[in-house]
Amino acid sequence: MAAPPRALPIDGHVHTEWSWDAARGSMEGTCRKAVDLGLPAVAFTEHADFVTIHDGQHALDVPGYLEAVERCRAGFPELRILTGVELGEPHWFPDAAAEVLAAGQLERVLGSVHCIEVDGRTVDMSMKGLLTPEVAAALMRAYLMETLAMLESEPAFEVLAHLDYPKRYWPHGELPFFENDFEEEYRDVLHTAARRGCVLEVNTTRGIEPHRGLCPGLTVVRWWWEAGGKAVAFGSDTHEPARLAGGFELAAQVVEAAGFRPAPEPTAYWLR
Ligand SMILES: [Zn+2]
Ligand SMILES: [Zn+2]
Repeated sequence: MAAPPRALPIDGHVHTEWSWDAARGSMEGTCRKAVDLGLPAVAFTEHADFVTIHDGQHALDVPGYLEAVERCRAGFPELRILTGVELGEPHWFPDAAAEVLAAGQLERVLGSVHCIEVDGRTVDMSMKGLLTPEVAAALMRAYLMETLAMLESEPAFEVLAHLDYPKRYWPHGELPFFENDFEEEYRDVLHTAARRGCVLEVNTTRGIEPHRGLCPGLTVVRWWWEAGGKAVAFGSDTHEPARLAGGFELAAQVVEAAGFRPAPEPTAYWLR
């Protein structure tokens, strides 16, 4: 007889129509999907981005978002819904980040680096054509150094989101990605995150191929354990209901293999 399916952890990194880049987002649809999946809990972590390099970008309407969460809590009483936010580059915009956090009670606060400065220009690692085989390694190092700067800065956040975000946009066909090539930089970041008391997020990028989308993978989650990291969070980073908790089975296996234990309570982090 097959073992009963393991309960999935909370999806702690989810975007809805309240994020500027989630055209297919739906908070209500995501709640329905969570109930269908038997997911115990979700955290809606909408974008609060302050770098203005994207078309269509707008500020997060915290009061409107919180009202929508309350409507969903009333409509889906069986689902635990956490509020949250994904702060982009909060160390570059400490006042703006503090203002967002002061605008309402946001339970799960993610710190994210998407952008770095290259030759005086701000670039998002997701920009098409940026990560060419010639420059990918240098940009990956710069990205990890920017993450280190965020961890050493004042602004409040608890969860370090998608630690190796550039992996998603890496030119894998021409240049294999090996974590070991960046071990020193990764370990610096992980030690600093552990000292800060951060939670490391394992981001599944909505369940795409793990060599691109599992951010970070097993090698790095093991280094997190070795660095004394206390806890791991899971996030699909979905921007639409259909991809909620995508890739979570594999992510749960990876996190357990690295030495962390499933949380007894659905909204809790997995601890060492
Ligand atoms: Zn992000
Ligand atoms: Zn996100």
